[in-house]
Amino acid sequence: MKSGLSFHARFSIFLFLERGETKPACCSGQKPALGIRSMRRRTKVSVREELAEYGIRVARAGLVAGAGGNISAREGNLVWMKPSGHAMDDMAPGDLCGMDLATGRQVRGRNRPTSESAMHLGIYRARPDVRAIFHTHSAWASGVIASGVELRPMFAEFVNDLGRTGTVPYVTPTTRRLADTMAEKARTCDTIFMVNHGVLAVGASVKQAFYRVAVVEDAAKSLVAACIVGTPRFLTRAQIDEILSLDAVKFRSKMMEKGA
Ligand SMILES: [Zn+2]
Repeated sequence: MKSGLSFHARFSIFLFLERGETKPACCSGQKPALGIRSMRRRTKVSVREELAEYGIRVARAGLVAGAGGNISAREGNLVWMKPSGHAMDDMAPGDLCGMDLATGRQVRGRNRPTSESAMHLGIYRARPDVRAIFHTHSAWASGVIASGVELRPMFAEFVNDLGRTGTVPYVTPTTRRLADTMAEKARTCDTIFMVNHGVLAVGASVKQAFYRVAVVEDAAKSLVAACIVGTPRFLTRAQIDEILSLDAVKFRSKMMEKGA
């Protein structure tokens, strides 16, 4: 895969990547604001608290800019969502909007829900097993997806964590058509690459949905890095199957589904 860039341009991008945050906050040594794991030991964390905490992690991992992207989590028939116009790291549990899954009506919270609320509700209706949805406008992943270059497994986390992946063509954000397109795609995919838009991941837990969008961004950075310095080499089908057969991977998946 040739990048077509001059050496100077490629070196500049390399330096930028080097300086940039390449790991989600949870893996980079930065302490999360509240520390969900230690909070859980002391007290039961509400879905709203967990979602607000992971909003901070999304922002720290550099997966959104400004008020972009949106996240949600399901609690029975109630879906908690990021409010419209709020940055992910400027969102207290009490700011979240509670939507009735059956009717789509807002039943809790005073803020207006994210403009992509119909997309979230449509996916929960199509996938009763889903407990959380993270949608990010991640810079590196969005760039790679928009280029038409396919994101494929280069390292184990891609295989371990993303579940079934798929791509949807560009559809105008916030529209009913996008909500329908995403609900249909989510029937068979856990991590969805959205052309000229971003990334969406579902999860059996908030943690699983977050890890998925974080791993996609790392995969995009790794692909760009590989293109800068040489030619990317992807895992083969046999290597992927071997990873999937490992007991350690099955254990890790179970932990993530539980949100542990
Ligand atoms: Zn969006």
